[in-house]
Amino acid sequence: GERPDADLLEGLNRPQLEAVTYRGPALLIVAGAGSGKTRVLTHRIASLLRTREAYPSQILAITFTNKAAGEMRERVQHLIGDSAQGMWISTFHSACVRILRREAQQFGFTKSFTIYDSGDSRALLKRLVKEHEADAFGLTPAGVQSRISKLKNELADADSYARQANMSDPAERVFVEIFGAYQSALQRANAFDFDDLIAQTVYLFRAFPHVADVYRKRFRHILVDEYQDTNHAQYALIHELTRPVQGSGGDSFSSGGMMIFEPETTPEVEGASLTVVGDSDQSIYAFRGADIRNITEFERDYPGAKVVLLEQNYRSTQTILSAANAVIANNFDRKDKKLWTDVGAGEAIVGFTGYSQHDEAQFVADEIEALHRASVPYSQMAVFYRTNSQSRALEEIFIRAAIPYKIMGGTKFYDRAEIKDALAYVVAVANPADELAVRRILNRPRRGIGDVTETSIARFAAERGITFRDALGHAPELGVGPKIQAAIAQLDAVLTEATEIMLPSSGEIAPPSSVTEGLSLLLNKSGYMDALRMSRDPQDEARLENLDELIAVTREFARNNPEGTILDFLTEVALVADADDLDDASGTVSLMTMHTAKGLEYDAVFVTGVEEDLIPHRISANEPGGPQEERRLFYVALTRARKRLHLSLAMTRAQFGEVSAAMPSRFLQEIPHDLIDWRQSPGDVNSRGGMQSRALNARRPGGGSGGSGKRYGDDLVPLPRREKSGDIAKFANRIPAKVRDNGDLQLAPGDRIRHDDFGEGRVDAVTGEGAKRVAHVRFDSAGAKKLLIKIAPIVKL
Ligand code: ATP
Ligand code: MG
Repeated sequence: GERPDADLLEGLNRPQLEAVTYRGPALLIVAGAGSGKTRVLTHRIASLLRTREAYPSQILAITFTNKAAGEMRERVQHLIGDSAQGMWISTFHSACVRILRREAQQFGFTKSFTIYDSGDSRALLKRLVKEHEADAFGLTPAGVQSRISKLKNELADADSYARQANMSDPAERVFVEIFGAYQSALQRANAFDFDDLIAQTVYLFRAFPHVADVYRKRFRHILVDEYQDTNHAQYALIHELTRPVQGSGGDSFSSGGMMIFEPETTPEVEGASLTVVGDSDQSIYAFRGADIRNITEFERDYPGAKVVLLEQNYRSTQTILSAANAVIANNFDRKDKKLWTDVGAGEAIVGFTGYSQHDEAQFVADEIEALHRASVPYSQMAVFYRTNSQSRALEEIFIRAAIPYKIMGGTKFYDRAEIKDALAYVVAVANPADELAVRRILNRPRRGIGDVTETSIARFAAERGITFRDALGHAPELGVGPKIQAAIAQLDAVLTEATEIMLPSSGEIAPPSSVTEGLSLLLNKSGYMDALRMSRDPQDEARLENLDELIAVTREFARNNPEGTILDFLTEVALVADADDLDDASGTVSLMTMHTAKGLEYDAVFVTGVEEDLIPHRISANEPGGPQEERRLFYVALTRARKRLHLSLAMTRAQFGEVSAAMPSRFLQEIPHDLIDWRQSPGDVNSRGGMQSRALNARRPGGGSGGSGKRYGDDLVPLPRREKSGDIAKFANRIPAKVRDNGDLQLAPGDRIRHDDFGEGRVDAVTGEGAKRVAHVRFDSAGAKKLLIKIAPIVKL
């Protein structure tokens, strides 16, 4: 007879079919962009459900954004024509939040924990850096934050890190202290930061195997999209979930020094079946700890894994594919893939070089309008750039040209101050232990509560051993004036009233509409809305609108989640990712960074700012593997296009308030010249003269190619040489007042020096000039260090 999933297999090519129907413990699908990896995952899930090999509740699928998760869920439901309730399709972070909400009480948290976003954890670190006077050691909140994040992605905690850190280095000691203090503060606040969501779930599974077993038994099929961008913690999480369940039979535990064996034996349950799909050419998150080895070493970690290669691209024209293939071929440590398509050559890639970024933006706008007239819908067009700041020039022109557009992942709705304030009110109700949230709303709107009062409240709380939130209920005892007492009592009353709505003490479960009701109450009775209404600042009107929008979001939440709680709502808003969108973007052009573009596809794509220092980005030059990662990012950008691809650049670019000459990206030269139709090439711009072209001529041997040289690349621009300035030189600009000044201390390779903290060592090299001279020193015990000669506590021996 026919397979029950036959219709799901129609139209798949042979390797896709193999991947959808393979049944075994581990399956790896490696393939280039647009070859149907995501589609295969979707069909595989549908097939497992249709054939009744799995219940929906036994499936865990991990996608890169919430939006991708939503699309995959819809696709599966469409394919199997069923609601598929209980299926987990989500991001790593959302899946971990669900697990932690159920299990947090196992290790000293409650299920109402708060999720700290990057801004929240930055605020906390700011305070800790100040308290530890860590800026004297060159530690900044941002620097500490990114180091802690990297360590957590490696599953290192403060203790384990301290054991292998160089504790004779005072800066290291302070860092370790701050790391520890940060973790304790999170725990006290009943909060997890983003990286903790994953790392702490791994910790939970390792520390409490019986908890892990619940999930191991539950999830029989685990599927991961974009596997090339998983970091070590995410890898470990998957590894924990796919272990066999030991069963109680093999278990032994010691009790009072005696080993006790459980008499009953339960058979071992096999590990879940794991499917991962990825493309090592699209790994673009190494800077966040993503580890490409997770894909290259899959076969070692899962012996006997089936590997399927997909080589046919269904997304792009041959022209677009040839350009992308040619670019990525320049990365040296990769396996060559043969990606092909049968849709034909299609249109040539359109190239354009503007005099300035405005000129470039005008070109993009004109092309968008032309395509729109040729009935390409706005929603099928996207504009990419490397850095968020590049969007401004585009926006200005789009507004003037009345092109409807939407920025994805720019200044996020949820990052706006008034939205953060409103959510802090909700958090203060849901998780009163979260001191950061309560402190945030203390004087918003202005109630005359200043630092002195805040400190009094904190001191009172510490003395009584109660939370900061509970201290608000003791206004008369705080030793503050009557006006302030009244303000505090009023805030306390509002929070209490909202708590009764959102988390009723009667024990009944509050309906999802209570989120809307509670939020409105908090914003109105606290006086927050009134303060904005009475303000003369025109911005405040926009803020009011945003708050109305937030209330609308809660209504929509209630509609979509009939069983949703205040915690579900907070989870949802905390985990909105860059590519996630509040409203439906149909009818608008999408603007986004190249990172955000991953996994998406559009009929027409504009890749802008194809210049040195933007792509590859300036900061990548100093990172190991940086330029290669930038090439992969560019590859991701090119391969989003289905039919039309535009590459544009400007000859001058204003950045950080300075206008400077820009150079065409080296990646442009890697695209075969006959694939690009230059509307205006660097040569054209050159021949028209003017300031910019003089700057350019100075760098171009033989001057411009004149208007005739249509194809850029006839005369290759030499690649710019870059000085490896690094962070140390930047540091020279913020030398604190009271440090040593070594004047013009002369050092040469071979010299021996003594450093106050690192002891004796030998100078290997000296780079830089003047006040920015840097000594590269190999210390006898402290290892290799780079020191700014002018200020380092060193003497020449
Ligand atoms: P990326 O690497 O960019 O994430 P991908 O490998 O996940 O890409 P998909 O997004 O799954 O690729 O597929 C790319 C496009 O090709 C989609 O529009 C998809 O519907 C289409 N496609 C994939 N396989 C087939 C097929 N067998 N027949 C028709 N269309 C297909
Ligand atoms: Mg995909």
